[in-house]
Amino acid sequence: MTSPTRAVCPHCAWPDDAEPFQVVSRHGTGDGRTVWTRCACGSLQVRVADGGGTRIVSRSRPAVAGAG
Ligand SMILES: [Zn+2]
Repeated sequence: MTSPTRAVCPHCAWPDDAEPFQVVSRHGTGDGRTVWTRCACGSLQVRVADGGGTRIVSRSRPAVAGAG
């Protein structure tokens, strides 16, 4: 399944399918691989890589406090 629009980080517009800004840790799972990454804006993201590719299943707010 492909998404018609390119997913990007809502905080800094870093493309989800681009190279992660920083890889925090990697974990192997039964279904594939889970990779924790930190975005350029400081948002912690959980990426799951399986046979269908890589997708972001969880995304925290940026670590830096901002307005809002
Ligand atoms: Zn970001």
